[in-house]
Amino acid sequence: MRAHTLIVDQVLDYTPRMRRVIFRGEGVCNYATDGPAVPNIKLYFPRPGQELDFPQRDASGRRWAFAGDQRSRVRTYTVRWLDAEAGQMAIDFVRHGDEGLASAWVERAAEGTKLGAFGGGGRVLKPGGYALLLGDETALPAISDTLEQMPEEQYGEVFIEVADAAEIHELRAPEGVRINWLPRGGAPAGSTRTLIDAMERYQLQDPSRTHLWVSAESQVVRFARGWASEAGIPKENRLIIGYWHRTMDEVTYAHASDHDRVGDEMSYERPGHEEHAH
Ligand SMILES: Cc1cc2nc3c(=O)[nH]c(=O)nc-3n(C[C@H](O)[C@H](O)[C@H](O)COP(=O)(O)OP(=O)(O)OC[C@H]3O[C@@H](n4cnc5c(N)ncnc54)[C@H](O)[C@@H]3O)c2cc1C
Repeated sequence: MRAHTLIVDQVLDYTPRMRRVIFRGEGVCNYATDGPAVPNIKLYFPRPGQELDFPQRDASGRRWAFAGDQRSRVRTYTVRWLDAEAGQMAIDFVRHGDEGLASAWVERAAEGTKLGAFGGGGRVLKPGGYALLLGDETALPAISDTLEQMPEEQYGEVFIEVADAAEIHELRAPEGVRINWLPRGGAPAGSTRTLIDAMERYQLQDPSRTHLWVSAESQVVRFARGWASEAGIPKENRLIIGYWHRTMDEVTYAHASDHDRVGDEMSYERPGHEEHAH
């Protein structure tokens, strides 16, 4: 596993609550050349207000020996796009204030700011069947990417919870995929039943052909697993992963329940995206 340095090139607010950071630098070029683009990466943040430090290797030279608070400064993000030719990588950060290490960092990110990155991989929705995607704003980069990669003939429906109507924007998707925006009227993220209600109201046509993808706050994904089971969506057609937990930072959540993952759900990886050690 190699560590990479990403350098902020541009910071853009494409909605009031979503900040896109475009990175350049040696790290981006390594991700672009060392195998194809990956859906998710691990970002490594400096201590607030300090220079970027990297963990050392352990004695075997193969693993990181995180010291002190270093492990607590790792977060998972979606690679929104990676342009190998331009040497740029975009990551979209939900702005949720200074309570989080990453969200505090993105409030202060400016051209030239450095961030660490390592790892790469992740499962994505299997094409075909009837695609049913549900997620909140943290999942929007992954949903946008999934929609853009879908075959033109794909059918399905998407439910996206966002803070309010100002977050709604156009997404590129096949004609047969219906997109539903669910603004929660400015209520705090993770405090409403927006996506749970959407599931409860949803009339599934053909559970055996449905390919379900759900990523959101922990309570939502836990509900989704029970709902999908009752609805009869086969396990191998479901990919349900918690992206955050409303009372924990990401490292604590990963430790507590591995992002509410279960082992035997959909294990599709985009061709060329197979887990590879960056
Ligand atoms: C595979 C995967 C891909 C992801 N991709 C993205 C992505 O592309 N963009 C993105 O923004 N997020 C993404 N996330 C979610 C992101 O990793 C978490 O939201 C993470 O907790 C943010 O780190 P932080 O340092 O800002 O907050 P943390 O330090 O982890 O948490 C501090 C506090 O903030 C709260 N919190 C965390 N996230 C939110 C939020 N979104 N809204 C309100 N409160 C919050 C927590 O409950 C906690 O109380 C992804 C997660 C996974 C597992």
